[in-house]
Amino acid sequence: MLLKNHVFTTLFKIAAVSLTLTSCFAAANVNQPKNIIFMIGDGMGVAHTTSYRYFSDNKSTKVVERTVFDELLVGTAATYPDDNTYVTDSAASATALSSGIKSYNGAIGVDVNKKPVLTLLERAKQLGKTTAIVSSSQINHATPASFMAHNESRKNYNEIANAYIDEKINGKPKADLMLGGGTSFFIRDDRNIVNEFKSIGYNYIDKLEDLSKLNSLPALGLFAPVGLPFAIDNKELPNRVTAMTKVALELLATNSSEKGFFAMIEGSQIDWCAHANDISCAIGELHDFSEAIKYAKAFTEKHGDTLLIITADHSTGGLSIGANGTYDWKTDKVRQIKSSLAVIIPTFLGLDKDASASEVQSTWAKHVDFELSDAQVSKIQAALHSKLKKEKMTREIKAIINDTTLTGWTTGGHSAGDVQVFATGVNSQIFAGQQDNTDIAKKLFIQLNSAK
Ligand SMILES: [Zn+2]
Repeated sequence: MLLKNHVFTTLFKIAAVSLTLTSCFAAANVNQPKNIIFMIGDGMGVAHTTSYRYFSDNKSTKVVERTVFDELLVGTAATYPDDNTYVTDSAASATALSSGIKSYNGAIGVDVNKKPVLTLLERAKQLGKTTAIVSSSQINHATPASFMAHNESRKNYNEIANAYIDEKINGKPKADLMLGGGTSFFIRDDRNIVNEFKSIGYNYIDKLEDLSKLNSLPALGLFAPVGLPFAIDNKELPNRVTAMTKVALELLATNSSEKGFFAMIEGSQIDWCAHANDISCAIGELHDFSEAIKYAKAFTEKHGDTLLIITADHSTGGLSIGANGTYDWKTDKVRQIKSSLAVIIPTFLGLDKDASASEVQSTWAKHVDFELSDAQVSKIQAALHSKLKKEKMTREIKAIINDTTLTGWTTGGHSAGDVQVFATGVNSQIFAGQQDNTDIAKKLFIQLNSAK
């Protein structure tokens, strides 16, 4: 669904009129943030940030230390979509967070009638701000896409990627800086969008280690065919969201227009690990995201004209800290797992059908530092003989990790519990208390529209 430019212009005019009214309403508040940093932890429910607190606990002290999430907490948000399900997906939720409009699951920047809705990033660009998106997923995945594009389905990855260069505001692409994954959608047989961006003056890099070479905007960095490798599996640079955030904020601080900037930064893969019910993977992502938040917080404190707002689009996996009736959660065991299930399970599927107990143990030891019991070894050997080998192996390995760490999961999908809202900087108090996810965008529109 490609939008014709004139439809877009009309849409923006209508939006600009209604937003002028909103800005009159907020005119009494003279101190507006020049820069807005909007960070989204995909799938990051209350249990996820809590699990990260206990995981990070310094056991030599009596108290459990607070995390950056605890320091910045100001409120909560409901996440239900507009399709009678209560349980949102990332597209509907990101559309709510980007536009203030509730939509159906799968919607990218469109309302329930599939009509495009103005996004915060677009509005910021209209107002002359410099704009950026950063994600550890492909940059055309549901969350960043809902700030950048308008499509009836999140699955139309190529159309969404096309929109990143085809849809323009004041004659320019909407984002001045894009960092994340996605070469397979931006460099295709039918179209090379990377070359198109280069031809209009964008710097392009495709290696994370070249991040420090970026010193001017506009710029595009695509570091993987689809999403970046999981933090836990990325031994060289596990904190890649942090690395991208640092470079993005420094670039924005030194290259933005006098109007400031709007940046959307996503910790995309907390969700992916939680879909896989993989606790160590999720903790790796939460650590990376929390380090990125620490950096953004310090940036906000240093630049007094900035608002930092952080939330989640929904909670994933129905995570439970403690399981099976036992009053404990084994962070020491979680810490002993060195690879994601996405790495561990295929390794076991590759073993010979009649692998010995010691082969099973030594394969396990390459990824996990606690030993398997004899019964657990037998279960893995039985899975190797099963007709449904992949399903059975996945079930057995998940069970070993969840039973050992006392971690519970109720779903491979999302759940509808409210998410947390964290904020600091200029006008951060407006996010206090319980709100709807659409309220977050509405409040940010007021900040944008009433800025001097
Ligand atoms: Zn998800």
